Amino acid sequence: MQFTKLKGGTKGKVNAMSLFKGPMHQHIPGHKDLTETKEVRVLKPQQWVYIPLYAGHSTDFEILVHEGEHVYAGTKIAVCNDRIVVPIYASVSGTVRGVQKLMHATLKTQDHLIIESDGKYEMRQAFAPLDYQRAGKEELVEFMMNAGIVGCGGAGFPAYMKYKNVKDIKKLIINAVECEPYITADYKMVQSNLDLMVTGVLAMKKMAQAQSCVIAIKKTHPELIKQVQEAVANIADVTVVSVPDVYPMGWERTLVRHLMQADYKRLPSEIGAIVNNATTAIAFGNALINGMPIIEKTVTVSGDGIKEPCNVRVPVGMQVKEITEACGGYTDEEVKLIAGGPMMGKTIVNDQFVVDRASDALTVLKIVPYKDVACLRCGQCSDHCPAGLQPVRIAQSLNAKDKAMMERLSVMDCIECGLCTYVCPSRLDVTENVRKAKRQMQLAKK
Ligand code: SF4
Ligand code: SF4
Repeated sequence: MQFTKLKGGTKGKVNAMSLFKGPMHQHIPGHKDLTETKEVRVLKPQQWVYIPLYAGHSTDFEILVHEGEHVYAGTKIAVCNDRIVVPIYASVSGTVRGVQKLMHATLKTQDHLIIESDGKYEMRQAFAPLDYQRAGKEELVEFMMNAGIVGCGGAGFPAYMKYKNVKDIKKLIINAVECEPYITADYKMVQSNLDLMVTGVLAMKKMAQAQSCVIAIKKTHPELIKQVQEAVANIADVTVVSVPDVYPMGWERTLVRHLMQADYKRLPSEIGAIVNNATTAIAFGNALINGMPIIEKTVTVSGDGIKEPCNVRVPVGMQVKEITEACGGYTDEEVKLIAGGPMMGKTIVNDQFVVDRASDALTVLKIVPYKDVACLRCGQCSDHCPAGLQPVRIAQSLNAKDKAMMERLSVMDCIECGLCTYVCPSRLDVTENVRKAKRQMQLAKK
């Protein structure tokens, strides 16, 4: 058990970070064997791609192409210039056909730019490559910004934000943990792109002016650990560390806690750390060396609800329906389709949405009926919550519509990891209650 003192700024909150805590993580079956050893299949859309005009929370894009215009894979098609700068590039060659509002993997309706593919996949270098060894810190940050590199392991926020105006960084942490069940996309990416990853990592280390860099890989991948160790063997201050097979070890806060034995309030940089996903480092390496943005994604399509689980390499904007059909289709007439992994992904009612730059998985599960029973007050949900929350008290405050209590219980700190539902012996959808409380808080702020 650990005891962490409440720090300044959290006055009045009853977040369990101030209480005796349980393990705050849990080993869960990985099911990685369904896809881990299979070749990545390269798929192309039959005719259309729908490029989401979305990055992080940014949606206000200026479209740089017009209807009927011919584009190449790599043509810049839109740019967002609000709080943050995020350009978007075409993923196929073909003709621009307009903009349409469609359901996005985040469950929000977003604008998508439609390109009719000409089937040729002609590429054009999107921007000039950059030698990271010669470039300065600011030049690298600007390059990452203009290349449109977004975080490939989460909500897809522009990656350059982590490096802008940071100082006193001790450790750059490259996250290749991939802790969610079923997903092996990062594993496959790292395995086949070691050189690009090393370039990306070294450029990131330079941008962060970090004293050292550690690449974290789950201990269940000894062969990958060995490969990456060999790739960085002659590089000073870059090491590989194997981390326990528990969920959510890949969550930034859990990983930092494990590697640095320290906690932070908002950002890891407060305690001298920057965390980036390994696939993001590969994307940055590709931009630096080849002058290309993220126009393709490796996505794990897995679960007991899809006939041929595998990893696929697809252009950004390819429709999920085409992908699941290429994977043999669904095993049952009704399945649960999740954009992402089974723990943190979002269940989507149809397969008309598309792969985005931040997508890494589609999980398809059989629907298994179950019955929940009343809460046993066992405390498992609180003990395992990686954010140190108390889901039962949150549910009570939700029922009582007590927003002040929700605030005090730090509802907004929930990362929707799903662990409280997973460990609940009563089979209650505990996470859903916390989600509802979060929505109430968000509505109250509008
Ligand atoms: S879903 Fe939220 S409340 Fe539940 S364990 Fe994860 S962080 Fe904690
Ligand atoms: S894990 Fe389930 S049964 Fe146990 S306290 Fe939490 S909600 Fe109740």
